[in-house]
Amino acid sequence: MMFTLPEWQARAAALRLRTQIWIDGKAQPAASGARFESVNPGTGQILADIAKGGAEDIDRAVKSARRAFDDGRWSRQTPAARKEVLLRLAALIRDHIPELALLDSLDMGKLVKDAATIDAPGSAHFFQWHAEAIDKLYDEIAPTGAADLAMIRRVPLGVVGAVVPWNFPLDMATWKLAPALAMGNSVVLKPAEQSPLSALRLAELAAEAGLPDGVLNVVPGFGQDAGQALGRHPDVDCLVFTGSTTVGKLFQRYAGESNMKQVWLETGGKSPNLIFPDADLDAAADMAAFGIFFNQGEVCSANSRLLVHRSIAEEMIDRMAARAAAMQPGDPLDPASAMGAMVDRAHTDTVMSYIASGKQSARLVCGGERVTINGSDAYIQPTIFADAAPDARIVREEIFGPVLSIQTFATEDEAIALANDSPFALAASLWTRDLGRALSLSDRLFAGTVSVNTVDALSAMTPFGGMKQSGFGRDLSLHSFDKYSALKTTWIKYG
Ligand code: NDP
Repeated sequence: MMFTLPEWQARAAALRLRTQIWIDGKAQPAASGARFESVNPGTGQILADIAKGGAEDIDRAVKSARRAFDDGRWSRQTPAARKEVLLRLAALIRDHIPELALLDSLDMGKLVKDAATIDAPGSAHFFQWHAEAIDKLYDEIAPTGAADLAMIRRVPLGVVGAVVPWNFPLDMATWKLAPALAMGNSVVLKPAEQSPLSALRLAELAAEAGLPDGVLNVVPGFGQDAGQALGRHPDVDCLVFTGSTTVGKLFQRYAGESNMKQVWLETGGKSPNLIFPDADLDAAADMAAFGIFFNQGEVCSANSRLLVHRSIAEEMIDRMAARAAAMQPGDPLDPASAMGAMVDRAHTDTVMSYIASGKQSARLVCGGERVTINGSDAYIQPTIFADAAPDARIVREEIFGPVLSIQTFATEDEAIALANDSPFALAASLWTRDLGRALSLSDRLFAGTVSVNTVDALSAMTPFGGMKQSGFGRDLSLHSFDKYSALKTTWIKYG
């Protein structure tokens, strides 16, 4: 299923965009009547005028979610019945892959070919995976002894608030929604202001699949208003978030100052990628380039620090420069493009300011320039710096753009010290053919996921999340259900 540029353009022109808030199974305007513009960063043109949700809309959405939870229309359906609805949703997502891919591409600049082959099929797969899992989870009976029956069951929490970012709009929403809904919770989702369109379409597809009204509500709006109102709402039981560390900390504060709701955070990283001389260096370079330039580098687990053994440093720098040269940005709808547009001009400015600081503190190997395409200057060349000091801003801070810094090491201890010298600990990669080294260094790397001889290894079957200031709690895998359930003990004396 791949189209040409004119075919994608024709499909884009024919799209019907959903721009209202989705509460209680109905599209409706914001209580205030306010709206905001969503801009297509690929062209700089206004794409849609979206209803701007605020505190009042969040309150209506939470009340709708609470009613739905309390009357059991979803929460007390059998797991098998919930599975059937979510499997229908997965099938509907598959039926709408080009449309959903276009919505994300137009909204935030990613390549439509990636959205159509990775994001949208991924969303269908994650819904299917969690749906299929939910009626295979068994509960426990404690070994208490005779005449006592202590049942330990997982129960849904109630109303879940989900605040998600713009880098993988459909998938980040899915990572939260699939396990939360499968477990029987009701959800209020606030998508990022840059990318609300796929979430609003997803809510409609969920209704078509048979999800009862009120179980999923989507309130687009700004973080300061709608996001904060959700974080502070006294009737939200659990808040799940993917985004920046700064805003993640705000959600902890909102919870502490309101009802002490559970807060689970996935807050990005500065992932190291270690290359030893005995590795397959061509494969390592291919994947290192993918690890930093895929999705314009707007990936929380992007391998933004390449740590290379000194003996192969110059040849790896040459290999990386060759890969970068082949990954120039282009029209996000053009199947020939290797990178799309940055999410918006403001973020492009931020990434360019990191590049400016890199030009002062390190050696620019390639890239470093802003590019104008289709009248929009929200494009950046794949950029590589070498010889960066460990305390340089480009080494320490999450840039969230196509910017790689290369550092060198001489020994395993030095490699581990450099790799772990970060406030983040989301992911790490390691390239070597030495099994002993792979295992012992994997143990010593501080990260939620260590990929060996690949980058960013990820599947529905494995948990994803961080340590340190990359957050806590896990998306994906059976462990994701832990965030959306409480353990409840019912103890019966019968003797
Ligand atoms: P934010 O953390 O600001 O945004 C993520 C989500 O939080 C959005 O839905 C946003 O809403 C919401 N939000 C923002 N401010 C508040 C607030 N005060 N209270 C409640 N909710 C809020 O990320 P940005 O989009 O601004 O990106 C900034 C940086 O964050 C990036 O450069 C990158 O370093 C990091 N990031 C990390 C991501 C990851 O995957 N871990 C994803 C995205 C960003 P709104 O869109 O309306 O602001």
